[in-house]
Amino acid sequence: MPIVSLTNVTKAYPSRTPGDGDIVAVDDVSLDIEKGDVFGIIGYSGAGKSTLVRLINALEPASAGSIHVDGVDITTLKESELRKVRGGIGMIFQQFNLFSSRTVRANVAYPLKLAGWAKKDIDDRVSELLAFVGLADKARSYPEQLSGGQKQRVGIARALATGPAILLADEATSALDPQTTHEVLELLARVNREQGVTIVVITHEMDVIQTLATKVAVMENGRVIEQGDVFDVFSAPQNPASQRFVGTVIKGIPSPAEVAVLRERHGGRLVTLSFRDGRSSQAQVFLDLAAAGLDFELVYGGINDIRGRAFGHLTLAVRGDSAAIDSALATIAANVDVTEIAREEAR
Ligand code: ADP
Repeated sequence: MPIVSLTNVTKAYPSRTPGDGDIVAVDDVSLDIEKGDVFGIIGYSGAGKSTLVRLINALEPASAGSIHVDGVDITTLKESELRKVRGGIGMIFQQFNLFSSRTVRANVAYPLKLAGWAKKDIDDRVSELLAFVGLADKARSYPEQLSGGQKQRVGIARALATGPAILLADEATSALDPQTTHEVLELLARVNREQGVTIVVITHEMDVIQTLATKVAVMENGRVIEQGDVFDVFSAPQNPASQRFVGTVIKGIPSPAEVAVLRERHGGRLVTLSFRDGRSSQAQVFLDLAAAGLDFELVYGGINDIRGRAFGHLTLAVRGDSAAIDSALATIAANVDVTEIAREEAR
């Protein structure tokens, strides 16, 4: 049973301009998040990601559809029951949302106090959490004395305090530099691995998904336009919008500007071959082209790795008889995705 399951969920807000139609922030979204997943939700600003998060942690009611958290349909619950659901969901934010007037220890203790824990238990639990996030020596510091990465680690410790099964991370690394982002992502991976917490990561940063997530949903205009295994979505995105996203972090796919440069430099037909692990052999492709009597040159490429699985893209300039090229490409296309990116001969 999925730990979070959305079925045909829609969230509409009344328009701020009278007479205009509603703003549909989330539009007929269905998705399942399995226990133990690191589930990424990606999309440009305004796609509906934050609204989706507010629906999952029951901060706002859905306009239509059902949302199951741990098997319970939260769209049918009363406010008092919703509070319990929220208690099982931790949350971290882009701006950390720490109390600036309280020490690190007091920030992490806060949700435990709210939950009515005894002082001794709170002290033990906070010490344990600060050790886990590597901030045992900062317990008496105030947030302003910490770096951005340290603040987010406090945010993570606080979010985990009551032992939630689900952690929602809304743009949690978007305010951090790349090195610090990497450290926070490592910590989140550890939270998932060592504590079995299911993590939902909302981000516009594709590389966050690439390094942390196991599953991904791509959102655009309130809709999920593509979802699946991160490896599948990254190695062979089907939707043009996901292709655009993925293209920003994947090595080996020439941008339109790079295609123009390649076109200037190389004659022949420019063909990008997309390889995925296990499925295809680069050597076989080269043998097929050579067997067809074609002349080819490797002009662009890159190999990517997602948790030990490789995929890559190689662009070749292929020269020779056009019918022979067509026939060779058809043979190759049985095992490798073939995309012709520029056809006309260079001048
Ligand atoms: P994202 O997190 O992907 O940037 P949001 O979920 O914040 O997207 O917003 C999706 C759309 O819903 C946007 O057009 C936004 O303006 C609109 N929206 C979000 N929250 C509200 C609200 N409380 N009232 C009206 N419109 C909203």
